Amino acid sequence: MLVYDIGLRQRFRGIVRRQGVVWQTERGWVEWSPFLDYGPPEAAAWLRAAREVERRGWPQPLRREVPVNVTVPAVDPATAHRLVAGSGCATAKVKVAEAGQSLADDLARVEAVRDALGADGRLRVDANGAWTVDQAEHNLIALDRFTLEYAEQPCATVPELAELRRRVGRRGLLIAADESIRRADDPERVVAERAADIAVLKVQPLGGIWRCLELAQRLALPVVVSSALETSVGLAMGVALAAALPELPYACGLDTARLLTADVTDEPLAAIDGMLPVRPVTVDPGRAVWAGEAVARRWGRRWDEVSGRA
Ligand SMILES: [Mg+2]
Repeated sequence: MLVYDIGLRQRFRGIVRRQGVVWQTERGWVEWSPFLDYGPPEAAAWLRAAREVERRGWPQPLRREVPVNVTVPAVDPATAHRLVAGSGCATAKVKVAEAGQSLADDLARVEAVRDALGADGRLRVDANGAWTVDQAEHNLIALDRFTLEYAEQPCATVPELAELRRRVGRRGLLIAADESIRRADDPERVVAERAADIAVLKVQPLGGIWRCLELAQRLALPVVVSSALETSVGLAMGVALAAALPELPYACGLDTARLLTADVTDEPLAAIDGMLPVRPVTVDPGRAVWAGEAVARRWGRRWDEVSGRA
C-alpha cells in the first residue's frame, strides 16, 4: 500500500493538500482517500468502495469515453475565465457561496465563465449547501441571468431543497443533490420529498461503483458522476460508473486530476476536448508523490480504525 500526499493548485473545500492510499488488487489499482475531517463511519464507506472493486470487479462499460465539466473554484473572474477557456470543456461547474465572498463575487465569476464558454456552453453552480432557502432563491435568480444548467446543493437539508424547488421550479431552475445523497443516512429521501431534479453520485463516499449503479436505478433521476478530488486511480472508479450508467445526459465532474499538482501515475486521467477515456490506471511507484513518515503513520492509524467496519 502506498500513501500519497499531493498539493492542490487552488484551495478547495478549505484544504490545500490531498492525501490517501492506493494499492494494487487482482482487479487493478484502487484508492481510499476519505477527507481528513471524516470520522470512521464515513471513512469506512469510502473503504467499501475499494473493497467492492476487489470483490465484484468492474462493470461492463457502455461507452468508451465520458463527457466532463471543467471545475472552477472560488477564484477571481480572470482566473475563472482562463481555466474555462483553456479546458476544452463545453460544461463548467462554478463554486459559489464561498465563505468570505459575496453575491457580487459569484456574479462576476459566473459572468466570466459564461463569457469563456459562449452561449452554447452549459454552466452549473455548486453552493455546497451554504445558502438558506431565501438566499438561494434570491441568488439563483440573480445568477440565472447567465443561464444555469442546474444548481448543485444550494441549501444544506432535504426539506430546504424541497422548499426551494417548489419556489424556483416553475422558472425552469433545476436542483441537483450532492451532499444530501452522499452524506445522508437515507440517500433516497431526496426522491421521497421531491427535493431534487438531478442526483450527484460519488463512488467512494457512496461505497462503490456497483452500489452507485444500484442506487441510480432506485433514485430514477438523471445522474452526474463526480469525483471526491481523488488521484487518477480514484477517478477511474468514477469513470467506470459513468461509463456503465444506462443514460448519461450531463457532463460529469471527473476532470479533477488537474486540480492536483501531481498524480500517482505517469498517465493521469485528464480530459481531452472535454472527454475522459474509459481505461484502467496504473500507479508508478517512482513518482515523487508519496507521503513522509508522519503522514504515512497517520493513514496507518486511520486504516486500523476503519478496516474492521468496511
Ligand atoms: Mg458538490
